[in-house]
Amino acid sequence: MKYVSTRGQAPELGFEDVLLTGLARDGGLYVPVEVPTFSADEIRSFRGKSYQDVAFAVMKPFVCPDISEDDFEEIVAKAYSTFRHKTIVPLAQLDSNEWILEMFHGPTLAFKDVALQLLGHLFDHVLSRQGRKVTIVGATSGDTGSAAIECIKDRECADIFMLHPRGLVSDVQRKQMTTVMSSNVHNLAVDGNFDDCQAMVKALFNDHSFRDDITLSAVNSINWARVMAQIVYYFTSAVALGAPDREVSYTVPTGNFGDIYAGYVAKQMGLPIKQLVVATNRNDILTRVLMSGEYRVGNVSPTISPSMDIQVSSNFERLLYNIYDGSGDDVCRLMDSLQKTGSFTIDPPQLEKAQQVFDAIQVDEENTAATIKAIFEETGMLVDPHTAVGLKAAELKNAHEDIPMVTLSTAHPAKFPEAVEKITGQHPALPAHMADLFEREEKYDHLDHDLDALKLYIREKL
Ligand SMILES: *Cc1c(COP(=O)(O)O)cnc(C)c1O
Repeated sequence: MKYVSTRGQAPELGFEDVLLTGLARDGGLYVPVEVPTFSADEIRSFRGKSYQDVAFAVMKPFVCPDISEDDFEEIVAKAYSTFRHKTIVPLAQLDSNEWILEMFHGPTLAFKDVALQLLGHLFDHVLSRQGRKVTIVGATSGDTGSAAIECIKDRECADIFMLHPRGLVSDVQRKQMTTVMSSNVHNLAVDGNFDDCQAMVKALFNDHSFRDDITLSAVNSINWARVMAQIVYYFTSAVALGAPDREVSYTVPTGNFGDIYAGYVAKQMGLPIKQLVVATNRNDILTRVLMSGEYRVGNVSPTISPSMDIQVSSNFERLLYNIYDGSGDDVCRLMDSLQKTGSFTIDPPQLEKAQQVFDAIQVDEENTAATIKAIFEETGMLVDPHTAVGLKAAELKNAHEDIPMVTLSTAHPAKFPEAVEKITGQHPALPAHMADLFEREEKYDHLDHDLDALKLYIREKL
């Protein structure tokens, strides 16, 4: 498979280079030249198969033969051996046609493990074969950080520098990152918000000489391999619910548009997805752009679902590329406007295309809390605030009562214990393997919101 940049001005690359490169050199994101499709019979053949088998089949066209089929099969098996549920991403039933997809059974209790556990093994495989080492720099609003660190720690092939907004991630999230003592892991608390952190990382990538010097690489959600790994659970869950002989709808609590974009790709690949509902908290840039066509960056407002406190939604550029039929010129035009004026407007025909696939709604803090409370009172189940945003959106937007609506549960409630306890009076316990998290020693440094300071720090540590 060949990959092109959404902005059309970077070289075409194969899978291994796309994996290692992250952001394209023209500032765009890599997308496959052509999305592979599966027939109804092929999708039907996934019934009763293990998660790993479906994962291999769904991702193979994107990865092989750049990586051999045998090697890739082994990589998939290793990646999902760290999950504490046999089906990796199990479905739970809430009501006759309402389902929760539990994506939090990986090592750091959030859905990002599903992609990042795979990425760690892919990096190891590709880099050791090429005899190379890379420097991974990333920004996190909380969950990416620990999941990325968990995938890179103790690996020979990479150092990882992780920026988080100081004081704006939960204690559990911070400790999951800062208690990892591996010498190749470097945590930085930056004075700023998540978007500031992400902007610093983007600026590093755009400094080509620095980038080449330290062989910079990324594992954040702009990396195509992450989107790819997330396509899989749409297939496993839809097939479990009757696809391809039955349509299935999804509601996805989203910030960076990565998780739900994977659902869009699954639909392009032939999976009969009826509705894709974007659920945002009050940081609602995605809801606004999908409703009005205007993408305008606002101020980030902290919520109890901090992993979605985002006003720059990087993966949205991939959707622009699709609705503009692969026109890099159009994507460049919109992105230039964003850079110069802080906004762009999608043209009406393209907006209509997006609206045919996506619905979107913002869920405020009150409704999020009320949902956590109601689910607990009705079922005894504790859900995390991100999942609650999704569940409320699913309730408000579900347009087809006879079609299963799956809400993606993106985190374990114990990742956000303060909020969950305040609302329900119940303290969500950490799973046994993490029970001593608060006794573990922390290691991290502070950094000003200053690009030069970041560069200096990285050079000193390497
Ligand atoms: C990262 C994250 C999200 C948002 O995912 P995107 O890919 O940015 O849309 C939602 N919930 C949780 C718990 C997360 O960690």
